[in-house]
Amino acid sequence: MWAVTGDPLALPVAVAGGVLPDLDHALDYYHWYWRRDFRRVYLFLHSWELVVACYLLAALVPAPWSFALAAGYFTQLALDQFGYRVHWYTYLLAARLLLGFDADRVLPHGVSKGSYRSFTRLLPAGRARAEGWFRSRLDE
Ligand SMILES: [Zn+2]
Repeated sequence: MWAVTGDPLALPVAVAGGVLPDLDHALDYYHWYWRRDFRRVYLFLHSWELVVACYLLAALVPAPWSFALAAGYFTQLALDQFGYRVHWYTYLLAARLLLGFDADRVLPHGVSKGSYRSFTRLLPAGRARAEGWFRSRLDE
């Protein structure tokens, strides 16, 4: 992004646009692993509608940072869309809303109870302890 736009700020903005949407997993993890309720999947920040909004913002406010934000966010969602083999509508917020955020309808196979590994594998330390906690939430 820095090389393309010539603005060093484009780099951290693109990284933020590509990483920060995953913060929405906290809400789903709360429901799944704290409340032990696997019926719903929300993923509020994983939304093709928001990608369109980012590109509209970039068109209305043309700047290296706005283009970098849209490109970073698009990359995040495209990698999830094709990397996780979900339905074509899984990352459409309107579809999730219409389906009542019903995990069995939104996701091809419902919630994978091992989803926590996507988080724990990123931990630089304490991975075994964290995985033990998540497993303990599934056992009881
Ligand atoms: Zn994601």
